[in-house]
Amino acid sequence: MIRSMRPVIIAANWKMNTTPADAGELARVIAARTREPGVVRVICPPFVCLAAVCDALSGEPVDVGAQDVHHEAAGAYTGDTSAQMLAGLATWAIIGHSERRRDHGESDERIGGKLRRAVEGGLRPILCVGEQLEDREAGRAESVVSTQLAGALAGHAPEALQRAGLVIAYEPVWAIGTGKNARGADAAAMAEAVRSAVRRTGWTDDQVADLPVLYGGSVTAANIGEFLAEPSIDGALVGGASLKPDEMAGIVARAGLTANARRGEPAPS
Ligand code: PEP
Repeated sequence: MIRSMRPVIIAANWKMNTTPADAGELARVIAARTREPGVVRVICPPFVCLAAVCDALSGEPVDVGAQDVHHEAAGAYTGDTSAQMLAGLATWAIIGHSERRRDHGESDERIGGKLRRAVEGGLRPILCVGEQLEDREAGRAESVVSTQLAGALAGHAPEALQRAGLVIAYEPVWAIGTGKNARGADAAAMAEAVRSAVRRTGWTDDQVADLPVLYGGSVTAANIGEFLAEPSIDGALVGGASLKPDEMAGIVARAGLTANARRGEPAPS
């Protein structure tokens, strides 16, 4: 049996939800209900809740991430947040989420700039890619994702991104927040397409084999098993369900089974 050495990662994207008054308690409850050895847990609250979540998680092996970083290190960018500002508050950053591409007009080139700043700032990037429904229906899903990756990764040395722990989240836009998740087999095919596209940007086969690829799009405790049954999928970026402790408990419990299997441990009886 070939065992994957890639980690199993469950990342929570709280989007524009929670306040500094309630985020810490939610993070504490989720952390306490998701203690699953072998699963990397990441919570990405809004910027203004980062400090409260960090305080609440002190002593818990749960990482904290930002939902974005600016493409410049500092300057006249009202309302924005640079990677450097996140020191001590976050160790991960979501880059290129489809809601930022849609609402803030982020191009692949701009996303590449954000990736550079995240890496310089010591943040572990989760780079999001995914096609629109019309792309999928027209048979263009793989080429869209390939173009997004080629644009965002252009000029980045594979070694630097690998050292930074780059993670790719394949998130079909039509599945985000809609309750219509992709089918596991389709998501797995796209995870392989992601790795092929990354290979075409200059990564070696060994580097690509170690690259974690997550699925995101209406993941719940009820459907996570469909994705984690696929060897090419290494976890999930979870939006709406990540605000619900019961859902997170179910999702991370299922992820724990995959983590055990990857380590070659028998499933609990
Ligand atoms: C997301 O925000 O990345 C996401 C996948 O959202 P949801 O799980 O709500 O579809």
